[in-house]
Amino acid sequence: MEKIRLGISSCLLGEKVRYDGGHKWDPYLTDTLGRYVEFVPVCPEVECGLPTPREAMRLQGDPEAPRLVTSRTGQDHTERLMKWARQRLAELERPDLAGFIFKSNSPSCGLERVKVYTDQGVPVKRGVGIFARLFREHFPLLPVEDEGRLHDPQLRENFLERIFALQRWRQITVPQPSVGNLVTFHTRHKLLILSHSPAHCRVLGRLVAQAKEIPLKELYARYLTLFLEALRLKTTTKKNANVLYHLMGYFKRDLSGDEKQELLEIIDLYRQGYVPLLAPVILINHYVRKYREPYLKDQYYLHPHPLELQLRNHV
Ligand code: SF4
Repeated sequence: MEKIRLGISSCLLGEKVRYDGGHKWDPYLTDTLGRYVEFVPVCPEVECGLPTPREAMRLQGDPEAPRLVTSRTGQDHTERLMKWARQRLAELERPDLAGFIFKSNSPSCGLERVKVYTDQGVPVKRGVGIFARLFREHFPLLPVEDEGRLHDPQLRENFLERIFALQRWRQITVPQPSVGNLVTFHTRHKLLILSHSPAHCRVLGRLVAQAKEIPLKELYARYLTLFLEALRLKTTTKKNANVLYHLMGYFKRDLSGDEKQELLEIIDLYRQGYVPLLAPVILINHYVRKYREPYLKDQYYLHPHPLELQLRNHV
């Protein structure tokens, strides 16, 4: 797989662009994720022409449409940042980003719960950074997260699963759009979708079944929207356990009594929270190789992202 292009707030890469001349380097992003990702750094405050160091800024006014103002002298930089953002967002269409990682709590980059100061000077944690808001409006389908939330293993897993899935979409279906390529993509992602949302899995299945009756462009757009919507929903132990039992059905005739027992036990241990999801998945992958199960061999549920990212190993 080609490296995934991911936008990122520059300070998370260690660039000294913060108001105080410092950075917010996140070693997981650069050292671990960086092996699979080509980062496209963006610092809204510096790129819109503000110096480093500079006066600290904050959001002020209506939490739904706040202004970006300096904390001490009250200079309003909202228009300057928005004018720059319109052009920069258009430029960001070119690198075919698969997502964006924002710096949390920043009045420019924060994705959620950013402090907005009322006219009385009282902070309420209900804001979205000016650039982050515009980015989401411009790229409504792209997966976005902030580095703070990515410290949560489940949220990290969910975000990375989505960017890897989007990259596969672009590689499998986009170069030569066809119903056949869409069907291949759907078939290989069926169990992954099921682990997030059985309801979406049914709807997407129906859409694919009617594929030949729908104009290709519309079909692609509807499929991608629903697919990304599905993957945004959290997987749960219960949903994963159901998928694992479902997977087991494919080996019904192959597994010996002992092997069946072992697999059931490990799924049960996962269900009870004693072992991570990775444990039953590794065992199933072993049986897929041993019994050469062709349908499962191609299922991305069994290898949605590189093992080196150490996902699915939390309980
Ligand atoms: S949070 Fe955003 S605006 Fe602030 S320094 Fe980092 S990249 Fe620049």
